[in-house]
Amino acid sequence: MITIKSEREIELLKKAGNIVYRTHQYLRPHIKPGITTKELDRLAEEFIRSQDATPSFKGYEGFPSATCMSVNDEVVHGFPSDYRLKEGDIISIDIGACYKGYHGDSAWTYPVGKVSPEKESLLKYTEEALFQGLSQVKPRNRIGDIGAKIEEYATLHHLGVVRELVGHGVGTSIHEEPDVPNYGKKNTGPLLKEGMVIAVEPMLNLGRRNVCILDNDWTIVTEDGSPSAHFEHTVAVTKDGYQILTGE
Ligand code: MG
Ligand code: MG
Repeated sequence: MITIKSEREIELLKKAGNIVYRTHQYLRPHIKPGITTKELDRLAEEFIRSQDATPSFKGYEGFPSATCMSVNDEVVHGFPSDYRLKEGDIISIDIGACYKGYHGDSAWTYPVGKVSPEKESLLKYTEEALFQGLSQVKPRNRIGDIGAKIEEYATLHHLGVVRELVGHGVGTSIHEEPDVPNYGKKNTGPLLKEGMVIAVEPMLNLGRRNVCILDNDWTIVTEDGSPSAHFEHTVAVTKDGYQILTGE
């Protein structure tokens, strides 16, 4: 069931989303060569807890950490580890926070020091793909309009669109209906209505779209080893468009 949130619920979702946003800003200066992804995860968890919130992902279906830290060819669900970031890496950090029972969910991919021009454009185009998708979020449009726009933009820039993982509704659960794919056909899927809250999250690869899963049964990597980027915002559908909840 796709739920419509009340104004009060959207306020709480915005508070949770703002904690996620500020956790990203708090981590930003620490994303440098030499730091381990475990240290970044610890900093994120401390910050989230200092805001009277809890990390949504910790323990979710058995996920071991507060955040997902996915480096280079890791698409999503990377485990924070003793890996030390090095110059030229890219790291996708996915953060969820729960505040008074409501969740916020946002992922961002960061360059570590100076990265190759290819990785730089991957980050630029994936971030833009998120906003291209969001441009379709308004009442009377359909979920398929979002994915169609993202797919069209990614294809234009020769990037692979990951299909195995999708965006989703957000509310008192971190993952609710509906699924929000990053591909699809215009004018298909559920109708968007004011008060729906969804996470839009393109995952784009420099190479082919195919992915596989590591032995830890969680981490998704690109099959061809190409780098992957992930940008995500949780947004509320408004009267005539959308409002970003995982922002300032
Ligand atoms: Mg996320
Ligand atoms: Mg999400």
